[in-house]
Amino acid sequence: MRLVTRAAWGARPSRYELAYIASTGGVKIHYEGTYVPKSLAAADAHATCAGRMRDLQASHLANRQEDYSDIAYNAVVCPHGYVYEGRGPHRKTGANGNSTLNSRDYAVCAMLGNSGLVVPPDAMLDGLVDAITWLRNKGAAGTRVAGHRDGFATACPGDRLYEWVQGGAVRPDGESPQGGTEGEAPGSGIARYQVTINGLRYGYGAKGAHVTAVGEALVDGGFGRHYKVGPGPEWTDADTLNYQEFQLAMGYTGTAPHEDADGVPGEVSLHQLLGKLPGKTTATTVPPFPGRSAFILGRTNPAVVTLDGGLIRKGFTRHHDGNGYQAGPRFTEYTRRNLAEFQRATPALAGDADGYAGPLTWRLLLS
Ligand SMILES: [Zn+2]
Ligand SMILES: [Zn+2]
Repeated sequence: MRLVTRAAWGARPSRYELAYIASTGGVKIHYEGTYVPKSLAAADAHATCAGRMRDLQASHLANRQEDYSDIAYNAVVCPHGYVYEGRGPHRKTGANGNSTLNSRDYAVCAMLGNSGLVVPPDAMLDGLVDAITWLRNKGAAGTRVAGHRDGFATACPGDRLYEWVQGGAVRPDGESPQGGTEGEAPGSGIARYQVTINGLRYGYGAKGAHVTAVGEALVDGGFGRHYKVGPGPEWTDADTLNYQEFQLAMGYTGTAPHEDADGVPGEVSLHQLLGKLPGKTTATTVPPFPGRSAFILGRTNPAVVTLDGGLIRKGFTRHHDGNGYQAGPRFTEYTRRNLAEFQRATPALAGDADGYAGPLTWRLLLS
């Protein structure tokens, strides 16, 4: 494959650190969806493709409504079949419509329009398969290939490219994308990936007393019918299937891997099951208060990452850029609003809930 790295196309740095993602169910295909000149497909037009990437990134960074931290796609493919590194593997996309959809699939965009260049050239289809294979091999993408319009109201990726997706996303010579290291039990569709919640791992193959505790809570709740020998310290398919029944009883839907009721815990369901979130840390030491000057709207300071960690642990993350609330060094209006909600919910702080941290807010948030 012909990969063009961020350095090679002249990418600007991310505005703040992109959210890590361990694996996805697959890849969603997008198009630019504006007018793209047919002349872009000419052989000598490839010299302009890197500039087109820089423009695309600049337009996303300038989108104040979405507040993107970077170009939204994990990869972009030009008509000449080159794969441009966007956010890259193991980084959550911002392109699929909402935070849930962004966690489920990576996003790959074709430099294709809704007018002008609307028919994907063969080289572009080869490049798209290269990008999908790359995200499978380097980013643990699962085997699903879908269109942006699947699950979200949009015309993207256009009728011609969507036909190609529905036809199996194959190369012009008929070869299917390779790889897909998701590791589901063959043929069964049982999810076999792990998640980390509060420093502890859950999902197939995870080990520890916290795994036994989940199994015991499932049995207590009446969700133990898949155990042949009772719950133990190693997470097996039986744990996944029992946990899935618990998720379905909670009203979650979608039992395929990486859907809400796939039998792999999330923070909300785990808290519901156990009445708390177990964690590695028992005693917490509060770092020293960095001073009020660390928290100025729009400025960055390492202490904001610590502050965000406290907000996320305590669940005050309602305000975000549409991409989920993530820890980062910039003190944004989202940070301020989430912190104000924590202050309003804390009796000792409620009288002065302005969203800025003083020593008492700092101590109560981080202890
Ligand atoms: Zn799209
Ligand atoms: Zn090109």
